[in-house]
Amino acid sequence: MSATLESWLDTHAQALDAGTGPSDEVLSRLAAARLPGIGVPRELGGEGGTVRDAIEAIAAVAARSLTVAFMLWGHRAFISYVQASPNAALRETVLRRLIAGELAGATGLSNAMKFLSGIESLAVLAAPGGNAAAGWRLDGQLPWVTNLRPEGFIVAAAVQHDEADGGVSIFALPSDAPGVTRSPDLDLIALRGSHTAAIAIERVELGPEWLLHDTARAYLPAIRPAFLGLQCGLAIGLARRSLEQASRARSAAEGVLRETVDALRGRLDSVVAALYAGIADGSFASNAVPLFEQRIALAGIAQEAVEAELQASGGRGYLRESGADFARRWREAAFLPIVTPSLLQLRTELARHAARTERA
Ligand SMILES: Cc1cc2nc3c(=O)[nH]c(=O)nc-3n(C[C@H](O)[C@H](O)[C@H](O)COP(=O)(O)OP(=O)(O)OC[C@H]3O[C@@H](n4cnc5c(N)ncnc54)[C@H](O)[C@@H]3O)c2cc1C
Repeated sequence: MSATLESWLDTHAQALDAGTGPSDEVLSRLAAARLPGIGVPRELGGEGGTVRDAIEAIAAVAARSLTVAFMLWGHRAFISYVQASPNAALRETVLRRLIAGELAGATGLSNAMKFLSGIESLAVLAAPGGNAAAGWRLDGQLPWVTNLRPEGFIVAAAVQHDEADGGVSIFALPSDAPGVTRSPDLDLIALRGSHTAAIAIERVELGPEWLLHDTARAYLPAIRPAFLGLQCGLAIGLARRSLEQASRARSAAEGVLRETVDALRGRLDSVVAALYAGIADGSFASNAVPLFEQRIALAGIAQEAVEAELQASGGRGYLRESGADFARRWREAAFLPIVTPSLLQLRTELARHAARTERA
């Protein structure tokens, strides 16, 4: 990451978390540092490299501001959906603009991921469209989506078709389509500057040019390793930063603290190594169990790391002025378990998997 972006993030992290910072600048700053194109092939306008490099980029940002890292995650996840889509024309139209930060990408696929796990039904429905050309009319809502830049965005949504076969497809929904309405930013307890809002979808007419994939059950498991892997970057960056802060503190209990920090570092490094190995060999596409376990482990390590930071700083960590960065990281860590797939959801999936394996 460039020194310019690092210092911009350090300057604005508190305000972006509080919702009083320059949120509108985030995407152009990330693009100027060439982060959105990391892991995207050069022939598609990216920087080259792998998903692992993209995870490291998100981690580097998360070490300074989880608000910005989560916006980068939403944007980068949308880029990976476009990369994986068979819709070459859509790729041609939006990919370079996304990489250049001209267009904000967002992912509204929590609902779809929960649908895949049988937790909830889809919140956006499609009927044949009113236009003569083949197309659909969409109605529904996306209650939580991040990186919805008020001046314009494009968001991925899963859509249930009302035809007899009841198929589910994934659309890229542009914010300027008539019938798309963004709510004001949600009143969050942290990450308030993340441009997180709800989207109402009323009689939105879309043609096949906006289709990311027509078969969600094939597409979602294929994009899940990148979706979840990129998400892991959030916990990795936050954990690394808190461990660094904890190891800097001069505490009377330095010896005990060092043991805790070293043990957490060791666990973090081994989970990260396993994550990168699984992404590199492609095994998560057919067996997501280890990936689920790693995502759970990383969220736990991040929480323990922030706690180690608190214990290292003692009372100073509890003072508003000296403890402001720590307090922000504490709130940031509290967010990690609830991002879909939530830790509850992942544990439920793992328990189901264990029960199936036992029966077999
Ligand atoms: C700041 C912020 C930004 C967000 N940004 C986005 C975004 O960009 N895109 C997006 O798609 N979503 C986003 N979300 C939504 C987020 O990913 C989760 O979907 C959401 O927080 C889940 O909460 P819920 O209120 O829908 O959970 P509920 O459905 O009310 O469930 C409560 C908890 O129980 C779990 N659960 C529910 N039913 C089951 C079950 N049957 N089995 C196991 N576990 C179950 C859920 O996973 C959750 O942990 C955002 C949320 C926040 C707070």
